[in-house]
Amino acid sequence: MKRVLLATPTTPYPLQPWHDTPTDIMRQRFFKGQGIFTFEAHMHLIGPFIIAQNISAPATVLDHPTVENWIEEIKKGYDIVGISALTPSFEGVMEMCRVVRKYSPKSEIVLGGFLAQSVGAYYPQEEWKKLADHLVLGDGIRWFRERLGDDVKAPVRQHYLPRCAMGSPWWIDRWPPGDTTAMIAALGCNRGCDFCTTTTLFGGQRHTMVSPQELKNEIKMWQNRLPGTNIIIYEEDQDKNFINEVGRLLRADPEIDFSTFSITILISINTLSLYNDLDEMAHNNVKSMFIGLESKFAPDQGYGKRAGDAKQILHNLYARGIGTMIGWMAGFDFHTREILEEDFQYLLECEPTAAQLTRVTPYPGTPLYKRLKEEGRVKPFKWEDVSFYGGGMIHKHLYEHEIMEFIRQGDERLLQTWGPTLLRFLKVHFNGYERYRKYDDKHFRQIAEFHRQKAFQGYVMIPAMERFAPNGRVRKMVKEMEQRWKQHFGEPSSFMRTQAKYTEMKAAYAFLKDKVDPVNRHIRIPPAKRYYFFGKDIKDDGSLPYAKEYLNEDPRYIRDMKIQDAEMALLGVAHAATQVLDYPESKLHETVSDLRRDASSILKSLADHLRQPRVDVPAMLSEAGAGLTALLAKAVEAGEDPENEIDFSVQNAKEKLAVLLDYYAQGLEGGNGLKELLTHPAVAGFAKDILEAVTAVV
Ligand code: SF4
Repeated sequence: MKRVLLATPTTPYPLQPWHDTPTDIMRQRFFKGQGIFTFEAHMHLIGPFIIAQNISAPATVLDHPTVENWIEEIKKGYDIVGISALTPSFEGVMEMCRVVRKYSPKSEIVLGGFLAQSVGAYYPQEEWKKLADHLVLGDGIRWFRERLGDDVKAPVRQHYLPRCAMGSPWWIDRWPPGDTTAMIAALGCNRGCDFCTTTTLFGGQRHTMVSPQELKNEIKMWQNRLPGTNIIIYEEDQDKNFINEVGRLLRADPEIDFSTFSITILISINTLSLYNDLDEMAHNNVKSMFIGLESKFAPDQGYGKRAGDAKQILHNLYARGIGTMIGWMAGFDFHTREILEEDFQYLLECEPTAAQLTRVTPYPGTPLYKRLKEEGRVKPFKWEDVSFYGGGMIHKHLYEHEIMEFIRQGDERLLQTWGPTLLRFLKVHFNGYERYRKYDDKHFRQIAEFHRQKAFQGYVMIPAMERFAPNGRVRKMVKEMEQRWKQHFGEPSSFMRTQAKYTEMKAAYAFLKDKVDPVNRHIRIPPAKRYYFFGKDIKDDGSLPYAKEYLNEDPRYIRDMKIQDAEMALLGVAHAATQVLDYPESKLHETVSDLRRDASSILKSLADHLRQPRVDVPAMLSEAGAGLTALLAKAVEAGEDPENEIDFSVQNAKEKLAVLLDYYAQGLEGGNGLKELLTHPAVAGFAKDILEAVTAVV
């Protein structure tokens, strides 16, 4: 039996043009440039996970390994080593190949994904053969099955691919847990867009991976194991019959509940224009979609996928509770300065819920690359720049920096015009709720319930969005959203108000912190994991096809989780207290009145001191300190008193705070805490600035 190792590239990944990591597509693309409302997320390359569960040999998968993890694993001497990667990781992957040649020279090296296509198109075979034995262009499962003598026609499993996080603002959660998984229905399509890497990889054809029934079974498996897991179905231009059939199968299953999860698809305007009424699409539980709009002028330029009235279709989607992630590109040959601006105005009118503004990029191997190469319009490039924002293209009418700045400003203009994406999604959720809540059909009502919950939960962000609105226009939109919320749900409960206030405070902290220590200075490296897939022993009964382990400890993750636990526990106390206070006869009301009285006395005492002709500062501070200590003691005592019915939450909060303090205490004992503080980039940078300023003055 051959031993197989599959892997993603090693970390840290090459930084993308906006100083962020390619594994965070929300920060890097869809929520880019939205200040404190920019989301932080994470994603996985799923190719190795799919291959590993569709071959008879037990396989190891390394997800986000460090170089050290990689060397250690390679030394185990695998027969076949496969690496799947995106093109910007080229240099890192070449280094991985060198490691294999050095420590396990008998291993066969197989490269897959977009990187393989770029390597094959850019280098002659004798060149790339020095570091790799095979390039897999197209279906990696088939390649491995053939190589291992397995049945190439066997059904394709996609059990429990690692969950990605669609994320949240970093100051809410820097380490959002995975909530969304991907499934591949088909790859490539026959529309032949000249810039498209996927369709090049699959020879300009739609390559089907699974049937609607198989896909439905995978969705069901997830909903049984981790209910609420959202699904992204990858099919480059979603086939109408396929998604309608998936929807029909899901609706036919009485255990599937559309109020608990959502489906995201990738689709073109042209395919959407085949629907007479987009209710038909919403009925499949599709609640968001990625659409490559590309340009207002794309239809006139031969991009068939864009045929149809994009603006009208998009607004019809929003009216049905379907949010969009719109792909738009700057840098087509027809983009003069005037046309580029007109193009962008059209995008603004389309009101994308989220937008991916990128540059036209000639990936090696695509027809666009070949044409530009012939025209002498590809200048030398760094592989890390062959991403969504570069690739050495020499533009006809615009400077490179000009396009990049247009994109940066474009994100800003979207924010200034429609507010943060959070607000735009909230609007879409209200639309979905209002439209479907009175429908007779059970599934439409479940869809309405999903939107109702999202809209309801959205309240906690409203005060923060209002305070940090980029301008008056957006502030007005936020206020209108608050009114819409109240029309449906009435006045928010005291706990919701507390939670919203707390969120607003956190937003203020994030806003200030971002000024002196922008979040993208601290690149988050995804954790390295090792998965052992069970080969021919994998079952289709809902059990996991692998066992997994974390390879490294990330001290920042450990610290952040302890802080988050303590925060959540304190919020739990606030929640419990506000619930108890909803009962007029609760004993806690007396305590609250007492605490108010005591706090008022402290302030009065301070005021009395200040009125003296000469303030006795030590006495004033000592009285205030004693007053505050007594106040805190009374509050804690009341919290611990079982009669007040919040003692459980208080004990929990005390424990979580104690754990956090222990953590810092250990850091100080080892000398790490102070060292970390003094060497923190923000502190060091601030100290340096001060020194420089002082030196300049002196
Ligand atoms: S429609 Fe999408 S998948 Fe198809 S060729 Fe165009 S960009 Fe590629």
